[in-house]
Amino acid sequence: MGGTTPKSRNQMASAIKPSPLVQNLTSRVAVLVPLPAPGPYDYLVPEGTDLHRGDVVEAPLGSRHVVGLVVGPGTGEVDEAKLKPLARKCTDQPLPLALVESLEWLAAYTLTPPGLVIGLAVRSQGYFDPPKMRKLLRVTGTEPPRMTDARGRVLETAGDGFARTAAELASEAGASASVVKGLVAVGSLQVFEVAEDEPFAVPDAERPGPKLSEDQSAAALSLRTSVKAEAFGVTLLDGVTGSGKTEVYFEAVAQALTQGKQVLILLPEIALTVQFLERFEARFGCRPAEWHSDLSSKERRHVWQSVANGSARVVVGARSALFLPFGALGAIIVDEEHEKAFKQEDGIIYHGRDMAVVRARLEDCPIIFASATPSLETVFNVAQRKFTQLHLPDRHGGAQLPQIEAVDLRSHKLAKGEWLSAPLVDAVNNALARGEQALLFLNRRGYAPLTVCNACGHRMISPESSTWLVEHRYTGRLIDHLTGFSMAKPKLCPTCGAEDTLAPCGPGVERVAEEAQARWPKARLAVMSSDVIHSPGEAQELIEAMTLGQIDILIGTQMVAKGHHFPQLTMVGVVDADLGLKGGDLRAAERTFQLLQQVAGRAGRAEKPGHVLLQTRMPEHPVMTALVAGDRDTFVAAEMAEREAAGMPPFARLAALVISSLDRALAEETANLLAHAAPNARGVDLWGPAPAPYAMVRGRHRIRFLVRANRDVNLQAYLSAWLGSAKIPAKVRVKVDIDPYSFL
Ligand code: ADP
Repeated sequence: MGGTTPKSRNQMASAIKPSPLVQNLTSRVAVLVPLPAPGPYDYLVPEGTDLHRGDVVEAPLGSRHVVGLVVGPGTGEVDEAKLKPLARKCTDQPLPLALVESLEWLAAYTLTPPGLVIGLAVRSQGYFDPPKMRKLLRVTGTEPPRMTDARGRVLETAGDGFARTAAELASEAGASASVVKGLVAVGSLQVFEVAEDEPFAVPDAERPGPKLSEDQSAAALSLRTSVKAEAFGVTLLDGVTGSGKTEVYFEAVAQALTQGKQVLILLPEIALTVQFLERFEARFGCRPAEWHSDLSSKERRHVWQSVANGSARVVVGARSALFLPFGALGAIIVDEEHEKAFKQEDGIIYHGRDMAVVRARLEDCPIIFASATPSLETVFNVAQRKFTQLHLPDRHGGAQLPQIEAVDLRSHKLAKGEWLSAPLVDAVNNALARGEQALLFLNRRGYAPLTVCNACGHRMISPESSTWLVEHRYTGRLIDHLTGFSMAKPKLCPTCGAEDTLAPCGPGVERVAEEAQARWPKARLAVMSSDVIHSPGEAQELIEAMTLGQIDILIGTQMVAKGHHFPQLTMVGVVDADLGLKGGDLRAAERTFQLLQQVAGRAGRAEKPGHVLLQTRMPEHPVMTALVAGDRDTFVAAEMAEREAAGMPPFARLAALVISSLDRALAEETANLLAHAAPNARGVDLWGPAPAPYAMVRGRHRIRFLVRANRDVNLQAYLSAWLGSAKIPAKVRVKVDIDPYSFL
């Protein structure tokens, strides 16, 4: 993580106005509203309203009303006569101060106008709606003055002690709604209300967990101790795949629960939560609350309110769960901390992992990173002694790490239109013959990444982004993965008009599945990619089928690489191990290593040994040799040395600027203007302007700058001074990405 880290809660106290009750100080308050303004606006406090820092309010803004956040006393810059009063306070409970401070920190770090970050914590006023109530009926014991058959049936049905809605009761008793109504009117049935939302069960920390190995116990004890201390600190739980990291950090969860605290567990993918929720339930007797983009607004409100009132004790969520209103956080866990998915790339660009550290520091609570392949940023922080490291060197229960081999595709040539080499085919045959499962991994969706005309060489290019259109056979369409644009595959070449000459080039998972089906017609195949799996439920079904041995060969993208535990899976074939190494990404080698190690880690997790084959054209590449030798540390050390020599993160800081406009000339002009306006500063290098690798997306022309700065440079101050000195035309967008992970 980059330079500035927030002060801890205690140190922070002097920076915050000690009186959280703002109204006593003034009749006006400073309110952040969702506008790209540099700071809060002053509003008048409505009579009789107490306002605190952190209060969520409804504020008039122009002709509409918006959700605002009270951050302090009014600035007094605007004449009181011109101020508007706030419409109302949305809820009596202000957002926790640590959350408010996290939001302010995020805004300052990412150079986002502070009003725009409120939406991360409070998406809508709907969060404050009272829970929906259901009207239920029960018998009172009062006899109706006039009894009929229908009335008798209703009272008998209702008499079993279970409450029902009027409609349920009528239908079960075989009576009309008016009969039920009549019984209410005469006092034989009574209406009462219950909240529609079931409260979250409290996870039981006292339930015994599995018996831990010696290494696991030592790590668990250390984590429990840091949770007990109720103080900030980052611990890396560094353990090989299958070493039981989850079981170990569950001990930290148990400790926090024992202390009456809440816990946030951040996971990179929704797909992961399926098995995860079950494991959590097995350990703690109930499911945790979940937070991710697939929740309905009702579920969202329920979780939000339950986190705020403390009844949701453990939340498992995607990165946006960081901005939930926890009042008593006892620990944050970031599982698979190295995952790129923690980086938010749209809208407000932030890194969930780094933001989690900020929140933990502001909460003064420990934070635990778990990974088998920690990010270089984390390795660096361990080396700097900022993070503590705990080690789990062995797989649980004596399971062996898989044997990993490279298959050199230069000598094991592939036949035209085929993607599986002879050694890989043999290995799958062997696994199937033993009644075990195989996984074929290719991190590419669809059927073929490129479609070319055999007659004239025309390439099918997206009109929206100038990238290759990817053929998807399941849907019969050519798709732009960047923008979502899609079209039916044409019969005629758009350039030469020849018929049926458009041919697929290269493989995606669908094409590998086609080959596998042809080679192993009797095998039960399944594909796992985001084109096939649209919901956590679908992911769960597939994972269950795989766990139960109902699938022989699973073919998938990075979706399959994640924490899944398939005991019968012993063979993993990586169809194109070199795929991620192409392109000039700073972290290409690191990420390829992490991904392949992760996918290899799916093999042989139980008693049966695992075998992994990497198809590659560069078996001598350091990533391949490290994977084959099982020597992560040498690879990481070499990669670190390279980054240091190049003056790159984690030894330095980066920021990416993307200038974009529908008007290409205007984008270029603005980029040149910025290039001239760039201040000279020691320890800062500026690269660009240059066309972005994705030079056009949805009609917008994109030009990039990359700023590299030594770690002691205040990058935000540099960027603010720079951007503040140039007048950016209204039709040009400038996107700032601090600590970029994508260079496209
Ligand atoms: P990791 O997260 O390090 O890949 P997991 O926590 O998923 O490892 O553990 C791998 C498997 O081993 C899981 O099925 C887990 O329940 C099991 N396991 C780990 N430690 C123990 C233990 N001490 N006792 C019983 N089962 C364990």
